Amino acid sequence: MSHELREILINSAYIVASILFILGLKMLGRQATARRGNLISGIGMLIAIVVTLLDRHVIDYTWIAVGLVAGTIIGFACARLVKMTSMPEMVALLNGFGGLASLIVGGAEFFRIHAGTIVPAHPLFTAGAIFLAVLIGGITFTGSIYAFCKLAELLSGRPILFGGQHLVNGFLVLVTLASGVAFVAGDPSVQLLAVGGFTVVALILGWTLVMPIGGGDMPVVISMLNSLSGIAACAAGFVIGNNVLVVAGCLVGTSGVILTAIMCKAMNRSLANVLFSGFGAAPKPGAAADASGAIQGELKPISAEDTFAVLEAARQVVIIPGYGMAVSQAQHVVRELGEMLESHGAEVRFAIHPVAGRMPGHMNVLLAEASVPYEQLVEMDAINPVMPTMDVAIVIGANDVVNPAAARDKSSPIYGMPIIKAHEARTVICLKRGKGTGFSGLENQLFLMPNTRMLYGDAKGSLQSVVAEFKSLAAG
Ligand code: NAP
Repeated sequence: MSHELREILINSAYIVASILFILGLKMLGRQATARRGNLISGIGMLIAIVVTLLDRHVIDYTWIAVGLVAGTIIGFACARLVKMTSMPEMVALLNGFGGLASLIVGGAEFFRIHAGTIVPAHPLFTAGAIFLAVLIGGITFTGSIYAFCKLAELLSGRPILFGGQHLVNGFLVLVTLASGVAFVAGDPSVQLLAVGGFTVVALILGWTLVMPIGGGDMPVVISMLNSLSGIAACAAGFVIGNNVLVVAGCLVGTSGVILTAIMCKAMNRSLANVLFSGFGAAPKPGAAADASGAIQGELKPISAEDTFAVLEAARQVVIIPGYGMAVSQAQHVVRELGEMLESHGAEVRFAIHPVAGRMPGHMNVLLAEASVPYEQLVEMDAINPVMPTMDVAIVIGANDVVNPAAARDKSSPIYGMPIIKAHEARTVICLKRGKGTGFSGLENQLFLMPNTRMLYGDAKGSLQSVVAEFKSLAAG
């Protein structure tokens, strides 16, 4: 096969793969098509990999086979073993290794050019792309490892702040830019020194940039690092002249940016506030207090039997799931409770807060897994206006996303974050294990309000007891 024909075939296959990526991404946006979207993107990736392996630039198939086998075993084991609640950690690691891969590709290509093995057609452009692949890849790698350690609680989730932190980071950025300019414009001897300089600084920067960000903001950071890993891959694609890597990197980069923006909007915070404010470092005085300045009221426990009695009489019920539902894996029994309530003539809705849980769409995924009808899911903006007409709001392991302090207490660190106004329902039943705070570490006035009752215990067990009451009524 002639060289030209081979190039045309490879690039045509890359275009097909890119179209499949885009279609797959679009289908991931809806629950009904998400599985198929995942499959279609996977087929696109398979095409891209197979075609790349046919490329004449591949010089050693042995190591590719070793990587393929090792990667398949690790990937399969992770898919089977990693729990849904640990997905953010998993994504952090995947982003980190994506960044490291781009750094290695950029570095390896530089050494091939430096040794004279290859001569780039556009030296300045290639040098710029190598700089970006190494810089962004390095920041993504160490930043993601730090984020992983915070989420896995291997390191404290508290923001680490010290005097002059922004100055130190600013200085590191300047050193990086200076060595980048020296690398792109300099001769080979300067380049060697410069590449070493910005590689080391990039690795340090990843760590120091994530250091002052609290564990509560890690999902936003991870989404941002996800975007960076895409941009690094895109730069690596330019370095080695691989079109499909450029397209895939762009898709990851832009979708990560969109997701980061959605999460910031859902928390009513700017990205700069997430990255630089040290949110969660130390509670502000009076934080989480109500408008009068203090947490007031008492916790009023309720039994499963009494919860059943309240629910039996209810006609409008809203279920508000949060991180605790994910922890106790209560989604199936939540669906069962919804069905029981409906069979007793109640109208049941599931109110979903955009940042409930620990990753975007966390609640949607769990409820879909339990086959909760999609039509019953209501967004925060749709449920809040009708909340006063709800007979009962059942809060299942949610805390921050229903904390009235976000709406009322200007001194609260979460002031301004949109919440589901569960406190406006006639009766609120909160399921949690004890007095644990939410991810922000703040107390919640909702639990002390006159219309709130606390059903203590693991959410799954508590719900099973309530469902058992409904069943015994049906049987008797
Ligand atoms: P949350 O504020 O973290 O509260 C979870 C509650 O669940 C805790 O109060 C805990 O109390 C309870 N809980 C834990 N395990 C339980 C179990 N087995 N059974 C019953 N209850 C259990 O959760 P959230 O209201 O969903 O809020 C999410 C937080 O994450 C927000 O602060 C949000 O800003 C942050 N965040 C999320 C995202 C995202 O993408 N989803 C992104 C950025 C930030 P006990 O310990 O007393 O049981």
